[in-house]
Amino acid sequence: MPQPPTNLTRAGLMLEPSLPVCQQDLPLDRYDEAFRPYAEEYLSLPDRTPERVLPWLDRYVLPALDHFGDSLLLLAHFYMGGEIVKLVERYGGAVADSYVLAMQARLQPTKRVIVESAVHFMAETVAILAEDDQDVWITNPRAGCTMEMMAKERVVAPIASQLSDRYGDSIATIAYMNTSGHLKALAGRTGGAVCTSSNAHHVTESIMETADKVFFVPDEHLGANTAHRLGLDPSECVVLPDPRSMPRDFELSDIDGGLERLDQAKMIIWGGFCGVHTVFTTEQVTWWHGQGWQVHVHPECPLDVVQAADGSGSTKYLWALICDAPAGSKIAIGTEGHFVRNAIDQAAPRGVEVRHLADVPGGMAAGCGCATMSRNDPPHLAGMLDLLRRGEAPDINRVLAGDSVNETTGLRTRLCHKDRDVLRADATIALERMIEITESAAGATR
Ligand code: SF4
Repeated sequence: MPQPPTNLTRAGLMLEPSLPVCQQDLPLDRYDEAFRPYAEEYLSLPDRTPERVLPWLDRYVLPALDHFGDSLLLLAHFYMGGEIVKLVERYGGAVADSYVLAMQARLQPTKRVIVESAVHFMAETVAILAEDDQDVWITNPRAGCTMEMMAKERVVAPIASQLSDRYGDSIATIAYMNTSGHLKALAGRTGGAVCTSSNAHHVTESIMETADKVFFVPDEHLGANTAHRLGLDPSECVVLPDPRSMPRDFELSDIDGGLERLDQAKMIIWGGFCGVHTVFTTEQVTWWHGQGWQVHVHPECPLDVVQAADGSGSTKYLWALICDAPAGSKIAIGTEGHFVRNAIDQAAPRGVEVRHLADVPGGMAAGCGCATMSRNDPPHLAGMLDLLRRGEAPDINRVLAGDSVNETTGLRTRLCHKDRDVLRADATIALERMIEITESAAGATR
């Protein structure tokens, strides 16, 4: 069994009395019924300073911590607003990227109640690898990932089936972590693997040793960046159309260049993207360079931006870069807005200046946060823990492998036991392949 990483991170962000809990309030009608009383109380607080918010939150969170003791694990992703990162840490939880988050149930088998403040696919991945006596909860199940939403199984499965009909066992699916369990299971079934932004090149290179072709879902930019890093010629990559406008009866022969082009391709890349990471341009990079700043970006950014930047890498890479930067460094970061705000807070006391890459004259840095992830706010954290303690947590907040939540209606589709077990087994294979490839690549460079 491959050994996953253990490096849960403490972001080290401090809650300071003068620093408001500035996550934008959601309107009351955006809370499900069970959470509304908590939201009403929160929204009626006179302000969002820690002096007001923390005593209110303590009333709900501390009894829950006392009740569950060591069996409780609180998790948050780096892209959560700084206040949730700080609050989760304040109550003993941990912050990580999607790779490390995914492994936490398996790594910490004594944790029976795992509560995650992040997007749904992250909680589902924890649930895929969890034991039967570990329950995984998400503070707001409507926190979806827009990139994952562009690759719902009902849209991807017909294309995957056409690819399989044409190429049989010689095509393997690589599912980015930002996919549902259904697509991770597809990767497991086809000899592929899951990947993250930090290991996509290792995973793709390794899978290509045995498969003639790779079907890479869902991010066209991570796919293009990975292909470039592996030295593939652009003619060896085909990006499928934008899934939002792909006709239901789309045939592979409809792509530009037809089946002949597809036959020549080594990577067939789904046309999804993250709106948060595609606001960045080479002009912004040039502007910051002109001010004497370094630029580092996430590989979900377009290839030309990644090439223009001084470096690119996952959230873990970017966070380490900020934490290790010597005093006097000036770094513009091209990634999710809350992460950058957290990085600014983290770096400033050490004399390191950090800015959002889109924060240029005429830019739009303020609009670049992951709005869906931010649906996990203080009332959802307080309500989730209080409802769990009282044994009244709504089942919609419980996350099982194969769950699919409509982020607009809040309705969930859940698999029967038998289908869930099959999905878990296949998705686990894909996750374990990723761990094996990643850890052996890390071992080779140690
Ligand atoms: S930042 Fe983009 S890819 Fe990441 S969770 Fe949000 S929508 Fe998804």
